[in-house]
Formats: sequence, structure tokens, C-alpha cells
Amino acid sequence: MSRLGAIVDLSKEPLAGPLSVEYCVIGSGPAGATAARALGRAGKEVLVLEEGADRVGPALTQRDGEMYDQLYMDRGGRSTADLSIAVLSGRVLGGGSVINASDVVPIHPSVLDVWQRRFGLADYTVQALAEDEAAALADLSASRPDDSLLNRNNTLLRDGCHKLGWRGEVMLHNRVGCAGLGTCLLGCPLSAKRNARIVPIPQAIEGGVRFLTRARALRIEQLGADRKRITVRSLDERGYHEQHHLTIEAKRVIIAAGAIASAQLLRRSGLGNQHVGRGFLLQPQLPIAASFAEPVRCFEGIPQTYAVTQFEELQHPVHGFWGFRIEAIGGTPGIVATMLPAIGAAGQRLMQRYPHIAGALLLHPDAPRDDSILSIERNGRLQIHYQLDAEQVTRFRQSVEAAVRVYLAAGAEEVLVPQTPPLSFRSLGDLPKLAGLTLRPASVPLISAHQMGTVKMGASPATAACSPDGELYGAPGVFVLDSSLFPSSPSSHIMTPILTLAHHLSRRLLSR
Ligand SMILES: Cc1cc2nc3c(=O)[nH]c(=O)nc-3n(C[C@H](O)[C@H](O)[C@H](O)COP(=O)(O)OP(=O)(O)OC[C@H]3O[C@@H](n4cnc5c(N)ncnc54)[C@H](O)[C@@H]3O)c2cc1C
Ligand code: SF4
Repeated sequence: MSRLGAIVDLSKEPLAGPLSVEYCVIGSGPAGATAARALGRAGKEVLVLEEGADRVGPALTQRDGEMYDQLYMDRGGRSTADLSIAVLSGRVLGGGSVINASDVVPIHPSVLDVWQRRFGLADYTVQALAEDEAAALADLSASRPDDSLLNRNNTLLRDGCHKLGWRGEVMLHNRVGCAGLGTCLLGCPLSAKRNARIVPIPQAIEGGVRFLTRARALRIEQLGADRKRITVRSLDERGYHEQHHLTIEAKRVIIAAGAIASAQLLRRSGLGNQHVGRGFLLQPQLPIAASFAEPVRCFEGIPQTYAVTQFEELQHPVHGFWGFRIEAIGGTPGIVATMLPAIGAAGQRLMQRYPHIAGALLLHPDAPRDDSILSIERNGRLQIHYQLDAEQVTRFRQSVEAAVRVYLAAGAEEVLVPQTPPLSFRSLGDLPKLAGLTLRPASVPLISAHQMGTVKMGASPATAACSPDGELYGAPGVFVLDSSLFPSSPSSHIMTPILTLAHHLSRRLLSR
């Protein structure tokens, strides 16, 4: 195959196969794009498959309906099997980094101690990853947004935090030249986010890497240690229907399709051991709303910049990183309307308050659990089985209480948990209502934006699916290189840990 870098849209230019390459990377998010760039720069012949389309600049139209349809996996409609948790991830060239909130939170060092101690990842030390983390932060042009970029939604949370004397911070982000349009979760039409589409992908193309878009990897067959066959279907322009068939032969395959899709692909291919798709983490987040007499206009400016970190435990004896944090988050009308606990006339009345509503997410680290299982039904549909346990419900009660306190301190008239039926707090005297926060299945709009641990790495196939190099046990030459590998929550946000790991594992792969 040619070593001329390019983006080829298979919906417009179907390729006749079979193609033969040295490395086939599946997925072009932060993980896949970083690995592809490293391999390309090292002179390897690399082909990247991406089932999303390439959308940059004005093609990111800021319209809720069109952008969820085009930029999110399952058109934004993916959820756990019991419909309790919306499982959000990107489906576009550049993956989730195109539609994420651009918060940059590196791996907490105590987590690496836990990975060494509990999961046998002896060489995952702070020192061993320092160079990779620095490279990740450089890719992201990580910086703290200037105070002038904080919108009212975020400064209200900061006001409440300061009034209570709690710990909080303006988070690092990966924006350069941000004009505060506020539609980060629908993609940035100004290319202000230093995401995978803007940084590693153009650099990978310079290094000779070819990206095929609207190219869905269906199955991987292990023909030998140095020979794999990947069955690919091209999709139509909008990504709804499979079209042409293409076969690719590669010496090595790197799976970086995001934690759910990577495990799904392995399951479909019958590759990997019994740990694939089991014991994963969704790190569910609960949205909460606060109504103010003054206009907040949470839809203007950067959505998510301030975090209350008072309740994060960074030296937890079992998990390393535990507790919770509260982050302000704004949303476009589409997403806010779907989160509010009312429909019809009542929903309309609530949406009339939209300019006065402040929003926050309650972010909780997660632990591997025995009963989280990915399965593929006979009809090919993916099922994500995951349920909150009692400990999570207790921790959510604590985080809701903290959010109520912080918003009331900031002057909110009402704090609303969008449960069915809703829980409303107008003063601290309402706190006993917290007992009514049951989090029964599908009663609150929980969100997972941080899926991980579906194909965990570990020292032995008895306990893990991949080696510490990311190589799938039992399938030499098949590597996993995304958050599927994380044995536990490394941080409240996972793009930076993923980038760190992608730099690290690419180095390890190239030095073999
Ligand atoms: C709404 C939202 C907000 C977020 N905010 C933040 C944040 O502020 N900070 C942060 O650190 N993290 C955030 N995240 C998480 C972060 O964006 C993701 O963890 C990260 O993008 C994952 O990177 P990845 O490369 O592993 O996978 P992805 O980015 O998911 O990329 C995988 C790619 O593989 C493609 N793919 C999947 N299956 C196939 C297949 N079979 N064939 C071909 N291609 C396939 C997908 O289309 C996708 O583009 C957010 C996520 C979401 C959804
Ligand atoms: S807030 Fe900044 S980064 Fe986000 S979409 Fe607007 S200009 Fe782009």
C-alpha cells in the first residue's frame, strides 16, 4: 500500500481490496491517532479505520439534532441495557476528543501505586510515565483558562465554593483561541480545541499515515502471529447503512475504538480470554440544576471550567483516587431539555427558565465490578449490563448534598435533582429529602462519558485480558490501546490518561 498520507472517505471513494499493510489501527480518537502518528513517524506503514466521517470547521454546524446524529456513537442514543445510563462516546474522525468538554486532568499518582500493587503493573510508575504525560500535555497545549473566559455558570459554582471555604480549581483545558461559543459538546467550528483531529491526525498524515473514514471494522481474524485479516464495511455518507465490503491484511492490529467498541469488536471476532467485556467501569455522572433569580445563560462561554474538588480523596487506600467532584456544565437546549425531569407543558415551563438555570455534573470515580458485562445479542445488538451498587448510591447522596449546599451558598432559589419524581431543595431545611434519592433504574438521567476497563491489562491472563504492553493474551500481534486497558479509574476525566498511555504503549511497541 502507498505511504502517502491522506484521508479517504469510503462513502465517496470505495476501495477495491484486499489491502495489505504493516499496521492497521482501528479508531481515530486520541488513542488511535496518537499511536498512528508514532508509528508513521517511525517509518511504519499504517492504515487507520474510522467509522465516523471527517467533520471540521463549518461542517460542525452547532445544531443539536444534526451533530448528535453525526458525531456521537449510535447517534447519541446508546445506553445501558436497562436504559439507566446514557453511554456517550464520539463517532467522527478524531473520536470523542472532537465532542468532549476539553477538561484536562492527568492520572493521579496514587492510582499508579494501586495499579502496581493490585494489578501487577510493576513498571507503571510515575517516573516511567513522566515523559509520556509531558508529551500528552504538550499535544493538548494544556493551560488554565484565563478568568475572563469563565462564564456565570462557572463563577457561581466558584462563589459558592469560596463562601463555604471549600477547595476548588479552574481546570486545565486544551483550547487555544477559544471564542466562547459554548458548543464544545457539538464540536468546535473554530478548531479551538487542540484535539486529535487538529493535532496528531494532520501530523500522522505528514508521516505517511492513511485514514479511511466511514470504514467500520467488523471482525479480526488471527491468521498467524504476523498475519491478521480485518473485515471492513464501508458506510453511506451519513453513516447509517453498511455498503461495500473490504478486506485488509495486516501484520499487527491496534484496537483503539474506545472502551465499549474495542471490546465489542473482540467479542464479535471471538478473540481474547474470558475477561474481555467483563468488570468494566462507566464512571456514571449525575447532572443537577440550580435556578437563580438572575440570568445565568449557561449556554454562553466555555461550558465546563470550574471544579469543586473538596471531596476528592487522592490517597484512598484501596482505589488511590476516590470520593467525588462537582463541575459546572452548560448545555445546548437539546441536551438540557432531555435532562430536565418534565415533559409536555411542565417541560416547556422549565425550559422557559433555561437562561436562569445553572448546571453541574457530579463526577464519581468508579471501581471494577463483577456484574458489569458486555454481551452481543443474536441479532448483533450490543448490550451493556451495568448497575449502580449501594456504595455508589450512598456516594451520590453525599455529592448531591454538597451540590445543594454549594448552590444555596451561591444564592440559588432552588436546586433540582432531575429524578422522577424530581427532588427540589430550596433551603438547607430540605436536606432530609435526600433520603428520597433512590437512583432506581431509569429514574434519573445518569451519563457515562468515561468508559474503561473492558479489556484490562494485568500481569497474568488469569486476571486480565491484555499484557502490560497492551497485547491481547492468546492473540500475539493484536494490541489494545485505549481506556479499555485501565484496571481502575485513573482520574475524573480520561482523555489525558488515554493520551499518556497511548504515548507510553506506542514507545513500548516500537522498542520491541
Ligand atoms: C460528551 C463527552 C464529554 C467528554 N468530556 C471530556 C473531558 O472534558 N475531558 C476528558 O478528559 N475526557 C472527556 N470525555 C472522554 C474522552 O473524550 C474519551 O475518553 C476519549 O475520547 C476516548 O478516546 P479513545 O481514543 O480511546 O476513543 P474514542 O475517542 O471514543 O475514539 C474511538 C473511535 O473509534 C471509532 N470506532 C469505534 N468502533 C469502530 C469500528 N468497529 N471500526 C472503525 N472505527 C470504530 C469511533 O467512531 C471513534 O471515533 C468526554 C466524552 C464525551 C462523550
Ligand atoms: S467554547 Fe471555545 S472551544 Fe468550545 S466550541 Fe466555543 S470556541 Fe470552540
